[in-house]
Amino acid sequence: MGTPYSAILTLMVTAGVINVIMGIYVFFYRSKQSMSKTFIAFTLLSAVYVFGSTLELSANSLTEIKLWIKLEYLGMPYLPPLNLLLVMYFLGMDRVLKRPLRIIMFIVPAITTLLVLTNDKHKLYYRAIELKQGASFLKTDLVAGPWYIFAGGYTFGCMIGGVVLLLLYWNRMKSSYRLQHIVMLVALVMPLAGDFLYLGNLTPEGIDPIPAIMAVTSSLYMWALAGRGMLNVVPIARENLFESMSDSVLVLDLENRLVDFNPAAAQMMPELSTQNVGRRIDELWQQYTDEPLTNLVNDPQAEREVIWTIGDQSYHYSVRSSVVRKNGGQEVGKLLILIDISEQVELQKKLHALAFYDGLTGIYNRNHFLHLSEELIAQHVASGGNFSVVLFDIDYFKKINDSYGHDVGDQALQHVVSLCRRLLRDVDVFARYGGEEFVIALPGMTLKEAGRFAERIRTEIEAHPMPVATSGSGSGSAGASQQAITITASFGAAAGESHAAFEVKQLLKQADHALYDAKRAGRNRVCLAGKAEVYSR
Ligand code: GH3
Ligand code: MG
Ligand code: MG
Repeated sequence: MGTPYSAILTLMVTAGVINVIMGIYVFFYRSKQSMSKTFIAFTLLSAVYVFGSTLELSANSLTEIKLWIKLEYLGMPYLPPLNLLLVMYFLGMDRVLKRPLRIIMFIVPAITTLLVLTNDKHKLYYRAIELKQGASFLKTDLVAGPWYIFAGGYTFGCMIGGVVLLLLYWNRMKSSYRLQHIVMLVALVMPLAGDFLYLGNLTPEGIDPIPAIMAVTSSLYMWALAGRGMLNVVPIARENLFESMSDSVLVLDLENRLVDFNPAAAQMMPELSTQNVGRRIDELWQQYTDEPLTNLVNDPQAEREVIWTIGDQSYHYSVRSSVVRKNGGQEVGKLLILIDISEQVELQKKLHALAFYDGLTGIYNRNHFLHLSEELIAQHVASGGNFSVVLFDIDYFKKINDSYGHDVGDQALQHVVSLCRRLLRDVDVFARYGGEEFVIALPGMTLKEAGRFAERIRTEIEAHPMPVATSGSGSGSAGASQQAITITASFGAAAGESHAAFEVKQLLKQADHALYDAKRAGRNRVCLAGKAEVYSR
């Protein structure tokens, strides 16, 4: 004891013991997350390496030395890539670390182990291992072979890569994790420095300082692990979450100055950049939406829908704001979360259309007609007004389908609808009742008025034959009307008695009877329910 040699041996044994303890500790007390597993491998292989080196240093013969070198190489080559993996997990780069990549990282170390174990046969790793003369203890002179140089390069690459990543992520890390960050950095820089000293022959008696340095780095890890939860990478994962969230997040201070934003937010506000940090973003905000930013931030917890325009594209966002507080509870700013709900809004519109409108003609469907007319009836019964309905059915519609095809039949339905629309008042409710049957609710009209109104529609339809782009058809009417189909319809009207309660279905039944009368009487005419009166050609 007392010599640098024995001091180094002590340090090395310490490093080995710490690593074994850490490995066991993490194995039993930490979750099975990727970083923990990597860390366990790292500590246990470190212990193998350190104990191998210790035994090598205290060996009494060249044969013993060669044996312990082999033991060292069961651990040592894997440490730099494991260390790089640890750094990457620590920085939250888990997504990059797919299984094939993790396997590739250990190909060079595996080859190294293999070559060292079989070195006597090919001398690819060590060209020669000789006893060194004049040292105060048994020491070898190692002559590097080609793979030694290659593997050395790989070792440095992994370690320098780790250092570079840690430096690149310096600002992105939560400050609460700065200590762990420093530990990882020091634990990489120290052995790197040691390696340079060793290669430059600057170490005492030419001893490889790495195993001794590992006593320091292992203690650091132990401290960070036990006291600081070094393997607890949640805060970094949380930061990653912010970055990878598909919902946009803006953090503002109390004056609406930008504090932070995520890539999704930058996508919805292309002008947003780190240059905007610290500036008010009200004006920028106003370029995209009419909803003032202050309305949103002053209404915490509320959820608002805003229409967002980027160029000629329009989006719907659901915006929620919440208060950001310091640890002491003091309000320091606002967090805005913007969720793109454009698809839902589109879907809602489609569902709404399906629920209320007829797909072919765009007017109300039967169900919605019943609903609306019931409301109208309730109003009119209450106020003592009149209320009528007109039901009409296109005459010989099957013939149109049969002669010109279903598409022309569809066009005929649209044609009739557009003619009717011209005559309707705002208060009237017009709907497709069935295939080629239509219904109109006429609030305020007596039966007579409804009959007259139906007659106007009837003449309008008859007077406006539908133009068709026929190519060589003409099975319909002869000569001049070849380019247009004359359409007619039969009408039935019914009215509710004022002040008496009635249901729209009753009224429709009466109108249907009248319509049937009109059909029977020869079609293309209007019949009034309960009356012999008929409007016709
Ligand atoms: P009528 O004068 O007695 O009413 O004779 P019609 O030929 O109109 O008789 P009917 O009411 O039985 O026939 C209606 C036809 O309308 C049957 C159906 O194939 C057709 N139809 C129903 N809906 C549509 C549609 O959306 N498009 C087309 N092209 N045809 C339809
Ligand atoms: Mg018909
Ligand atoms: Mg019909």
